[in-house]
Amino acid sequence: EERTKDAELKSEELQSAKESLEEKAHELMQSSKYKSEFLANMSHELRTPLNSILLLSEMLVDDPVHDLTEDQIEFAKVIHSSGQDLLNLINDILDLSKVEVGKIDIHFEEVLINEFADRLYRHFTPFAKHKNLGFTVTISENALSVIYTDEQRLQQILKNLLSNAFKFTEEGSVCVAIEKAEGEELLGLPLAKHSDSWLKVKVTDTGIGIPLEKQEEIFEAFQQVDGATMRKYGGTGLGLSITKEFAQLLGGVCKVESSEGVGSSFTLIIPSLPEGMPEIIENEINT
Ligand code: ADP
Repeated sequence: EERTKDAELKSEELQSAKESLEEKAHELMQSSKYKSEFLANMSHELRTPLNSILLLSEMLVDDPVHDLTEDQIEFAKVIHSSGQDLLNLINDILDLSKVEVGKIDIHFEEVLINEFADRLYRHFTPFAKHKNLGFTVTISENALSVIYTDEQRLQQILKNLLSNAFKFTEEGSVCVAIEKAEGEELLGLPLAKHSDSWLKVKVTDTGIGIPLEKQEEIFEAFQQVDGATMRKYGGTGLGLSITKEFAQLLGGVCKVESSEGVGSSFTLIIPSLPEGMPEIIENEINT
């Protein structure tokens, strides 16, 4: 009889521990949601005055009628570029908090790989010229010619990866290779679903590289290899965390391979079809 009593007591204790844990988890989720909502609202409100700062400082730089001294024009330039940095940061925070509160809209649509590659090439060629770096975008023969995904998010991912590649590379080249991902390379990846065909976009640079022990944490928000005290490159440390979240939203992953002083490769793998897309289209794509 004593034993049954003991067991009853234990089970009551367990039950109440479970309840208090659930309560804590609920509170945590709630406060994390408030934080994200606060950030999203805040970012939105900050953009309005910032846009005036950007517009007016740009007018000062561009408009000769004001008769500004050279110094004053320099100041206006600094105001403008600092404002631009701040806007980038705010936009990144807004994106991340939107992902966290599940407010980001994903629109799947047909994306022609040729056109997508073309746009990337045109957008980044000036960066390559500016730093005197080689730049190629290649599509392998086995690559799919059309996929269904959110093109805007896909572009944003590639823009993040390519701006990093150009930022951290002083000589050599930046290459984008678009291929079909298949077989062993898909094994062990945390991919959202089964898909018969996967797109792989690999961005390779010959830049400074990333130490092995940092290769995981750079995907976390605000993490940069060079700490705040010795910061040499600008940036917010948010690009890769957004990239990781977006890759997941598209049903795929982004991973890195890198060797210090040699260069880095960031690989994005996404399904050619979103979940729940009719089989017919899948067949069309595969043939
Ligand atoms: P940001 O570039 O704004 O600092 P990211 O989240 O895009 O933020 O990148 C985080 C960090 O990862 C960078 O600060 C840099 O230290 C490292 N990193 C990212 N891409 C590269 C690259 N191609 N080569 C070398 N280091 C990189």
